[in-house]
Amino acid sequence: MTDFYEYYKTWRDFPIAEHFRSVTESMVAAILQKQRLSVKDFFALLSPAAEGFLEEMAQRSHDLTIRNFGRSVLLFTPMYLSNYCSNRCVYCGFNVDNTITRHHLSFSEVETEAQEIAKSGLKHILLLTGEDKRRASIEYLSQCVRIIEKYFTAVGIEIYPLETEGYRTLVENGVDSLTLFQETYNETLYEKLHPGGPKRNYRFRLAGPERGCAAGMRAVNVGGLLGLDDWRREAFFTGLHADWLQSRWPEVAVGVSLPRMRPHAGKFQPDFPISDRHLVQVMTALRLFMPRAGVTISTREGAQFRDNILPLGVTTMSAGASTAVGGHSRQDADSTSQFDISDERNVPEMVEALKGLGYQPVYKDWQPIGASLP
Ligand code: SF4
Repeated sequence: MTDFYEYYKTWRDFPIAEHFRSVTESMVAAILQKQRLSVKDFFALLSPAAEGFLEEMAQRSHDLTIRNFGRSVLLFTPMYLSNYCSNRCVYCGFNVDNTITRHHLSFSEVETEAQEIAKSGLKHILLLTGEDKRRASIEYLSQCVRIIEKYFTAVGIEIYPLETEGYRTLVENGVDSLTLFQETYNETLYEKLHPGGPKRNYRFRLAGPERGCAAGMRAVNVGGLLGLDDWRREAFFTGLHADWLQSRWPEVAVGVSLPRMRPHAGKFQPDFPISDRHLVQVMTALRLFMPRAGVTISTREGAQFRDNILPLGVTTMSAGASTAVGGHSRQDADSTSQFDISDERNVPEMVEALKGLGYQPVYKDWQPIGASLP
């Protein structure tokens, strides 16, 4: 078996909806007695039959999270470098067909933005761009990393998928983690949602995380954009993908993110909205299946929901977020936002909230050898 796609195909044509219906409550009860879960057990915990066991799943998920991560939450913030994009993703405000203000940060703007974010004390940053290989080239991104590494110890990227060599170049320049969402694991739906641009290549994107692992990324995050397709399927393939990566690259910290669709520029409405309760089912099923996987809940979610879901398995949260290009330092940045954020708390407010819930906010859990940052 050479890549995840080959493994994915063995499940892709499986009658998933029918099998979800065939899971019984007694099957779920038996699975919850197990110490280690198989892929089929994970599948069963995403079924309608498991909905009656949510409290038990939440308790076990909480216990496993405390055992593996303590009461700590790693904080990071996104930094948008550019919203130029050549793709036509129907659900995204940066879609090339949308008439929005476009901006691309100059290197001096990158430095100003980094300085502004660094005042919050955060040490983990996630760099984002649209897919514009001329403006947001590997050389441009490398230079951005060299500028901001004075301020941050951990630099992640959430950009268009690269070849292994491209990822390796960025790792050599200081990038340590990769986030790459498949958006939807449904290959047929993927074609419809991506009517134009290089992102139409489903397989190239799907193999991006494994190329990132092969290139030496310290951490790799995968996930789907919940709301695009049946959430049970999407959650199942997210777990399958993360587990497959972790089994092949045990040295990489594989994590999952659970982003839900948010309002954005454009008319697209999700066909499969996922309720809070079902998001809890997804998160706890993932935790029981992969006890050591990082789980990220972003500011797409509201403050109250984030606080409530925190003890059930979350390990990483964004704070003080802006989805606008240069959103922390440019006066007119708001018109360049990718989507509306929901939890608008700044870093000190997030820190207070976490402490109030009995959790330790973590600014830094890693730094490159030789780095001199405090
Ligand atoms: S989701 Fe990404 S690739 Fe698609 S239009 Fe938005 S920024 Fe571009």
